[in-house]
Amino acid sequence: MAKMRAVPVAAPGAALQIVERDIPEPGAGSVRIRVQACGICHSDSLTREGLMPGLQYPRVPGHEVVGVIDAVGPDVPGFVAGQRVGVGWHGGSCGYCDNCRRGDFFACQTFTRITGVTYDGGYAEYMIASAGALARVPAELAAEEAAPLMCAGVTTFNALRNSGARAGDLVAILGIGGLGHLGVQYAAKMGFRTVAIARGADKEPLARQLGAWHYIDSRASDPAAELVKLGGAKVILATVTDGDAMTATLGGLGVNGAMMILGAAGPISVSPLHLLSGKRDVKGWYSGTSIDSQDTLAFSVLAGVRSMNEVFPLDRVREAYDLMLSGKVRFRAVLTMGAS
Ligand SMILES: [Zn+2]
Ligand SMILES: [Zn+2]
Repeated sequence: MAKMRAVPVAAPGAALQIVERDIPEPGAGSVRIRVQACGICHSDSLTREGLMPGLQYPRVPGHEVVGVIDAVGPDVPGFVAGQRVGVGWHGGSCGYCDNCRRGDFFACQTFTRITGVTYDGGYAEYMIASAGALARVPAELAAEEAAPLMCAGVTTFNALRNSGARAGDLVAILGIGGLGHLGVQYAAKMGFRTVAIARGADKEPLARQLGAWHYIDSRASDPAAELVKLGGAKVILATVTDGDAMTATLGGLGVNGAMMILGAAGPISVSPLHLLSGKRDVKGWYSGTSIDSQDTLAFSVLAGVRSMNEVFPLDRVREAYDLMLSGKVRFRAVLTMGAS
């Protein structure tokens, strides 16, 4: 049987190690993808560190996958071998549970497939994915360009386009890391008056280069007060993983403003009076389904939005993962599978 290289996590906390495995066969409704690139996301630590209850090991992480379909299982209309596709966090939905029938496919109750978490993901030369989880990848994007857009990209793009902000509105992006550097670009290209908020003055030139109209150094000034001076934010996109930083910014929401929470952070504290007096909102946002990812890729081509990546061959997976975890990657780490 033909073999592939893959990086399964053997048990919670176990070192990432390349092993040889049989190349899997796609079942009904699934395709096999020859992986070209896979981004490394902070959420991969759920699998690596065993932070998700009930997770079964060994498990291959990776939910920012781009590659080429090389085998198609039975009952897969719409996809053929040779097509370039991407797979993100959302691994498909059943179509018949209550949530699916209400159109909330992301919250499918019976088919809770999370790529690289509840089934094997893209730290491998091949993976199996449900047809419903596939996004078409435009020819204009190289695999390593498209990969980070399958999570960091769709999360920020989809949150912004569903935020209720309209062209010209004041939209603040809290944090300029893996998510935030994309959030600033999408917000600017969508026509929002885009404010970037980060710690330190050193990030200002980059924020401006990414399209920010204004920059707030949250070390040197109170980000909430600065946003109020600008008229109050219609939307604050909270991409940081720090609840205190979110709390410190909430006061900058304008009337009818909403904070969209994307970063998994510690508790935040909100003043009920502040919320009710201005009909303000604090809301979580789920990344999106495969069509949201496909829209993200298409918009990124249209508007010239790109992720800034450090690219590593699969052999250097351990180094790349550790760099991501320590926050030292500028701005997304991407694995490439080499001979593809
Ligand atoms: Zn992710
Ligand atoms: Zn369902």
